[in-house]
Amino acid sequence: PALEYEQLRRKIETQTRELSYFTIDQLYKINEKLSDDDKAKWSKVIARFSDQNRVLLASIRNLTEVDGYQSWREQEHESLSKLMQARLNSLQNPSKPCGEVQRVSCNINKGCGYGCEIHHAMHCFHIAYALGRPMILFSDGWRYNPGGFDQIFQTLSRNCTTALAAGGAAWGRYETADVVEIPLIDNIHPKKDFMPMAIPEDISERLIRLHGNPFVWFTGQLMKYLLRPQPWLTELLEKKYADIKFETPIVGIHVRRTDKVGSEAAFHDVSEYMKYVEDYYIIYQYQNPNLKFKKRVYLATDEPSVFKDARAKYADYIFYGDTAVAQSAQLNSRYGTESLKGVLLDIHFLSLTDYLVCTFSSQICRVAYEVMQQRVVDGAWRVQPLDDVYYFGGQNAHNQRVFMSNKANWPNEFNFERGDIIGTEGNHWDGFSKGSDKTSGQTGLYPSYKTEEIVNIATMYTYPEVKI
Ligand code: GDP
Repeated sequence: PALEYEQLRRKIETQTRELSYFTIDQLYKINEKLSDDDKAKWSKVIARFSDQNRVLLASIRNLTEVDGYQSWREQEHESLSKLMQARLNSLQNPSKPCGEVQRVSCNINKGCGYGCEIHHAMHCFHIAYALGRPMILFSDGWRYNPGGFDQIFQTLSRNCTTALAAGGAAWGRYETADVVEIPLIDNIHPKKDFMPMAIPEDISERLIRLHGNPFVWFTGQLMKYLLRPQPWLTELLEKKYADIKFETPIVGIHVRRTDKVGSEAAFHDVSEYMKYVEDYYIIYQYQNPNLKFKKRVYLATDEPSVFKDARAKYADYIFYGDTAVAQSAQLNSRYGTESLKGVLLDIHFLSLTDYLVCTFSSQICRVAYEVMQQRVVDGAWRVQPLDDVYYFGGQNAHNQRVFMSNKANWPNEFNFERGDIIGTEGNHWDGFSKGSDKTSGQTGLYPSYKTEEIVNIATMYTYPEVKI
């Protein structure tokens, strides 16, 4: 398919969703001002609009089934994934003795949650990939498994051992030193253009054609190598899969509560997630009018009471998920190997769902979304975030390009011109995003449908030694 076709197809999904966020929000705002009588009539307007919108999304989602390109998409996904894994394998297992090649070191012990520490390791691995230097990971005393990373995941290298990573030089010498120790992403100044969310220039065209969010796909591939499970873990995941009788269609929700609420994220009631789950299933039924299916949800949370709440209020759903796992996820029992197993299971099953509804402020949901992209083809759309847009902590500027000028006539909105660059800070999922116009210097709200994502492309190592 032409690049332009793929981009247009994705744009239609995004724009339809933006239209619905805006219109539904406005319809409800008007609703609040109506008399009871008028409210009854108005609810019919809302219901009809919502339904037409879902029909439209069903048609859009069915496009990939009939446009004749799906087998190409599947093959390209496979072939790029093979290339990425071969490159990573070659990177991590240099043909020369490891002591003779330039390398980087990284210490997983950032002292935060599992998702946060994995993203820290991913930031190191991303840099390792970009520089073509194998990464050596220190993980002794890891709070999620004191025996280290290698007991959980396969060793990252056959010949680059931690003994070869001692005495790493400071980041400033990354172009010349034999061993460079990679600091936390927040401590790197200035940031380099090859850091997240950049994708490698040499495969950028293929990535952009393949996927609606090329960076997420790319990072998902780095993660695929980084988190290759040890046989015992594969066994655990497979056993659990059989035990819970995992079946599709299924939507994943991640309800992050406890220490996160009020500090880094707002409280969200189960109904806020389920509203989007309901929508997903109605659309899915419209996509497949003759299919009979059960509505399933995989529920992951660090708050055990959410299970009872969800099952009581949504009796027509099957909820997978485990109160014991949620208990092990609470702050007071969070670290150690038992809790690690719980979070690994939750991320694994969230990543196996068809669609995610979650708060991207949580690293758990971002990891699940990244892992999901290893399996689904062009699946950037398979999420409805409740708060942040997708991001990588510590990332370079997240910019969008304006393709339609705007005359401000809503509260806090600003004027902008076609071609302006907007640094985006978030989508409010009501038709508006927040950000600042780098061309005019104005800040405030802007209508999300008038901008498109800019993909950061950077020169990285090109792996000429890998021929596939
Ligand atoms: P964040 O704080 O939500 O951004 O994510 P982190 O991964 O950095 O830290 C949260 C930690 O809480 C996780 O690593 C888990 O240990 C635990 N946790 C949070 N939500 C869940 C969940 O849904 N399931 C499980 N098993 N653990 C969770």
